[in-house]
Amino acid sequence: MKKIYKINRLNPNISYVILVISLIITVLVSAILYYQIQTILKDRLRERIISIVRTASTQFESEELSLINEKNDYTTEKYKNIIFRLNKIRSNNPDISFIYILRKTENPNIVTFVADADSLDPALKVDLNNDGLLNEEDELKFPGDEYDISDNDALRNLGFSIPTADAELTADQWGNFLSGYAPIENKNGQSIESIGIDVEVSDYSNLVNLAFIPFISFVIFLVILLTIVTLLLVRIWKNRVKVVQDLDRQKDELLGLVSHQLATPVSAIKWNTEMMLDGDLGEFNIEQKKVLLSFQDITKELSDLISMILDVSRIQLGRIRVDKQELDLGTFFKEILDIIQPKVQEKEVKFVVDIPKNFPAAMLDKRYTHMTIENLLTNAVKYTPTKGQVSLKVSIKKNILHCEVKDTGVGIPKAEQAKIFGKLFRASNVKNSIDGNGFGLFVAKGAIEAQGGKIWFTSEEGKGSTFFIDLPLVEK
Ligand code: ADP
Repeated sequence: MKKIYKINRLNPNISYVILVISLIITVLVSAILYYQIQTILKDRLRERIISIVRTASTQFESEELSLINEKNDYTTEKYKNIIFRLNKIRSNNPDISFIYILRKTENPNIVTFVADADSLDPALKVDLNNDGLLNEEDELKFPGDEYDISDNDALRNLGFSIPTADAELTADQWGNFLSGYAPIENKNGQSIESIGIDVEVSDYSNLVNLAFIPFISFVIFLVILLTIVTLLLVRIWKNRVKVVQDLDRQKDELLGLVSHQLATPVSAIKWNTEMMLDGDLGEFNIEQKKVLLSFQDITKELSDLISMILDVSRIQLGRIRVDKQELDLGTFFKEILDIIQPKVQEKEVKFVVDIPKNFPAAMLDKRYTHMTIENLLTNAVKYTPTKGQVSLKVSIKKNILHCEVKDTGVGIPKAEQAKIFGKLFRASNVKNSIDGNGFGLFVAKGAIEAQGGKIWFTSEEGKGSTFFIDLPLVEK
């Protein structure tokens, strides 16, 4: 039965939360993986560019470059020879779009041009970028022309010391480029010039974009798969919960039916026993009367249990009906105390009662209210060791009947307090040592709430418990 409650309490909405979390994780992991692939491909590309530019740098000597310093040096044979070699390197590496040599100055953000492969005749205007226009974007640099490298970290920080390449692609009207630089050393191993190559990497970008398509398709597929699986699971779950709820309902109906059928014969036994005890069927000797009296006790217990089970089934099925009628609360509490007193005496606990002398008119369901307060008091006595104390305090404020049943008994373990009004629940500290069935508080809660009241408690294990009831006295 406990398993059934567990399934009932599970909330299928949690699957949607799990789904959303899984989707977020999937998208995040995919994005990270995609970024990693991009980085790996880019690193490979940089290594290749560095290797090309390193080889290119070995083909020039700083000493010969030192002859090219100013604008007019472009007419010299040396300059032409350098440009020829630059072009040769470019034609051997079709990936290279631009190749040039730069010289550092005292200002770390400014370099000067030594040579550019496209500048055989810098005075001649050529459509360098092949865009069909001759404009300033095609302007060639003369030897000695300055060039600002303040936003070029690779060249500024490393390009004159070790072979290096840009960390990121540069996209402009000429395409996607990655540039590499390598120092040109003089005989002393020092370098003031650096050779630079710009490599057109559209192939790489296309590759990355192409990789993106199957990647994103896979992520979409995963997302759809996860959503379908979750929806399917929620559906199965809901069906299962429904089956379990139906079973639970059928069980409650069966319980109600069986108790109802048992109630009639038990009442007959009870009446007949009472008739015999009253002497209606002739006189019995003392031994026989003792047997009849125990019969009477057992049938009362049986009939109380049956009506309790009937109430449990009514509450479970939402069929509890309260019958509020005018009640004389003075007589009502006297009847309850008459039942409790013998139990108190038998258990030898101190019983303190604090009840008002006069009560206002009250509209309450007598059977349910009686059953609840009797049950709270019976529990207080039952779960309090001999010599302990049980007290009942009743007060009325603003037409609310307030009852407080306090004991110095075993208390209820903190971890189990939330379950105490559940059907059939018995706390671990009494389950195996004190008799009970776990119906009482479940019915009490149903009965009090059906009358518009509240029931709650405070308890400390080993110290005692106090149960509280608030019941409105006048019908709203
Ligand atoms: P029962 O007393 O027959 O077991 P109840 O529904 O009346 O069933 O109570 C449910 C459980 O709540 C008890 O088994 C016990 O663990 C705990 N309980 C109720 N009243 C007290 C109390 N006064 N002191 C300690 N535990 C209590």
